[in-house]
Amino acid sequence: MDRGSKPAVLVTGGAGYIGAHTAKALHEQGYFPVVYDSLSSGFREAVGWGAFVHGDIRDAGALAEAIDAHGVKAVIHFAGLIEVGRSVVKPDLFWEHNVAGTTTLLSTMRERGVNRLVFSSSAAVYGQGGRGPLESIPEDAPKAPASPYGDTKLACEWMIEAQCRAYGLTAVALRYFNAAGADPSGLIGEAHEPETHLIPLAIAAALGDGKPLTVFGDDFDTPDGTCLRDYIHVCDLATAHVAALRADLPAGAFEAVNVGTGQGASVFEVVEAVGRAAGRPVPHSIGARRAGDPPSLVADPARARALLNWTPVCSSLEQIVVDALRWERNPAYGAGVRGRRAVEIENTTV
Ligand code: UDP
Repeated sequence: MDRGSKPAVLVTGGAGYIGAHTAKALHEQGYFPVVYDSLSSGFREAVGWGAFVHGDIRDAGALAEAIDAHGVKAVIHFAGLIEVGRSVVKPDLFWEHNVAGTTTLLSTMRERGVNRLVFSSSAAVYGQGGRGPLESIPEDAPKAPASPYGDTKLACEWMIEAQCRAYGLTAVALRYFNAAGADPSGLIGEAHEPETHLIPLAIAAALGDGKPLTVFGDDFDTPDGTCLRDYIHVCDLATAHVAALRADLPAGAFEAVNVGTGQGASVFEVVEAVGRAAGRPVPHSIGARRAGDPPSLVADPARARALLNWTPVCSSLEQIVVDALRWERNPAYGAGVRGRRAVEIENTTV
């Protein structure tokens, strides 16, 4: 695809779940996404917009080449490891990919004169400490990550903030709550190996493609006893990145912003919603609590509205589940071919 006069944005990790949806949103809003991905967990088939560069986030030379070749003006940085459980047993790997990888990216950006960054952070930077079980979380809530994964996200935020002050980089860290759903086209969606997330597992159980769902605990201090989470549609998350890129911020500014709806949904509510959308109930049983699961994680989304002029438009639980279901039912979905149809439209519409 020809870049023309469109501003080029490097999207590290752009073949992953949120990255691919963000590349599509960038394309739709007049940018030229340059997806930079090692394909260690992302899918080439999910890259349907702009250009693709196969590279590792720790490779300064390849990053510099991609920036120069496409005249990159800004970076949205998703690349990194995300599995919380794995981070507990392999913390060194997470520090190497997430923190050292971000260090390499930041110095390469500085060297090439790219001074605008949106960073993929996480609600995992917050701990439960001092918060009531149903209280929403503002950005200045205490930071106490419960896993090495959360530690690396917080460490990156600190490093980015310091470099904003020192070198005039302008950056927004978006702290995601529970990303869910899929693009309504059915072309791209969630595809983790192995899948551990509630909504895809509940859908697989309802469709008979997976095991019955185990609800991890029904004795929490919440209205129905199951955990509350703030599910945000991945398309709303994607537009939050474009809004963060566009936010009118002075040189040297660093902002951390929650991306959530402000509404919590319980595990039972999700199970009900999936059952309604699928037209058959989700077979499930109640199991033990999962280690490290806080009873409630719900964003205070006020800052996103004020600073980014962003509000979610498609994050009702019903919409999330209907879109996720459409993706899971996509005939192209399955081992190694998830998102295959994105390639077909790459050849015709970009
Ligand atoms: N959950 C569950 N059964 C599963 C997977 C998840 O009951 O098989 C619950 C989990 O305990 C949490 C919620 O669903 O309360 C969302 O979990 P998920 O792994 O999707 O996201 P997380 O909140 O851990 O980032």
